[in-house]
Amino acid sequence: MCAKNYNAFETAQAQFDRVAEILDLDQATRDLLRNPLREYHFSIPVTMDDGSKKIFKGFRCLHNDSRGPGKGGIRFHPQETIDTVRALSMWMTWKCAVVDIPLGGGKGGVICDPHNLSPREQERLCRGWVRQVAQNVGPLQDVPAPDVMTNAQHMLWMLDEYEAIHRAKYPGFITGKPVGMGGSLGRTEATGYGVIFTVREALKEMGIRPEDTVASVQGFGNVSQYAIQLYTQLGGKVILVSSWDQNDQQAYAFKKNSGVDLKELQEITDSFGGINKDKAKELGYEVLPGDVWIEQEVDILIPAALENEVNAETVKRIHPRVKIIAEGANGPTTLEADKVIRERGIFLIPDFLANAGGVTCSYFEQVQCNMNYFWEKDEVLGKLDTKMTSAFIAVSDLARKKKLYMRDAAYVIAIDRVAQACKGRGWI
Ligand code: NAD
Repeated sequence: MCAKNYNAFETAQAQFDRVAEILDLDQATRDLLRNPLREYHFSIPVTMDDGSKKIFKGFRCLHNDSRGPGKGGIRFHPQETIDTVRALSMWMTWKCAVVDIPLGGGKGGVICDPHNLSPREQERLCRGWVRQVAQNVGPLQDVPAPDVMTNAQHMLWMLDEYEAIHRAKYPGFITGKPVGMGGSLGRTEATGYGVIFTVREALKEMGIRPEDTVASVQGFGNVSQYAIQLYTQLGGKVILVSSWDQNDQQAYAFKKNSGVDLKELQEITDSFGGINKDKAKELGYEVLPGDVWIEQEVDILIPAALENEVNAETVKRIHPRVKIIAEGANGPTTLEADKVIRERGIFLIPDFLANAGGVTCSYFEQVQCNMNYFWEKDEVLGKLDTKMTSAFIAVSDLARKKKLYMRDAAYVIAIDRVAQACKGRGWI
């Protein structure tokens, strides 16, 4: 998923190196934390519905487990690469550390396009993925979860395969399960809501009321839809969303100056977050090229699609009115673009803080599975708000005190916690 040849892993390592300097880390710590501790590359044979065999390439990386078992999603994507998975596993380590939950960083992926796979083929692929890594993942080792183009059903098939192999019940093996099957209420909302909890706090610090702001959002999947829901509830107005059109193989933006209507757009969106452009036109949306989301005259930009979308070319188009960029997606900003954002003084809420709501709720899911007692949705979302808000305040306080860019401040907190855990264990 390295759009325009940006390498997400190089970005992740360069971000780490910058903070390693600030923290003055010793060489062994740098060498340990710049790369995953372990990674698995494997082939997954799948019998297709027509009886033919197809071999898919799968990955799992465990970046660091000094603070607890690995944690991180599995993506199904035609342009998945090992470097993307490595980068994402590293960002998971920092994400768990910045919100201070006792988990490490992992990530997995399969090079495939689920749009072109029937449900039965997807099931066989999920089961095949688990068979390849069944000895290396688990509730006490490394815990997978849904990510781009994977969902609760995929997780349940994976759980079922894992339990069949290990001949016992392990509800804590995987998170993002359906509610009633070990899933937590609130997980679907968690990432998008988490993004907006941090936006709400940022606005509070700036003395701006949410109802006086407008936003433009890239993507219309799980993160984006719930971010839009909560932001709108707080009084904000989203004037544009964009999404990927599977038929045309390109992105489109959908604009309404009076504000997009979440429910009406959801009704014309497929299960992968693709908005039907003909129906959108009928509903009065202006349909524009996908990349215009970034040049809107808004207060808040929320990239919530894929990585590297805010890059050297697109960053120049950010409107002077923009005050906050809340990174819903993982790694949406390249190094060059990040420098520009920092220099322009835009308040950035970095990905591994802004979108940590998902993993925080996954952690709650594991806790509930361990107790075999499930909380009400309000309790889950209340605990999530508390965790996200305190993580945000810790980062912005440090940024202010030490005059650090928000991304650097978040990294300083996270990397320091992980480095201390590695030291404490005697690894370095
Ligand atoms: P999703 O698959 O539900 O949605 C992705 C959306 O992005 C879809 O609407 C798709 O049409 C759109 N999209 C894809 N390419 C696009 C492009 N070029 N331009 C515009 N839109 C495009 O995925 P999601 O779960 O919402 O995840 C989005 C991002 O957030 C990813 O980077 C993911 O890693 C990250 N993230 C997700 C979670 C979670 O809990 N779902 C947690 C943390 C981080």
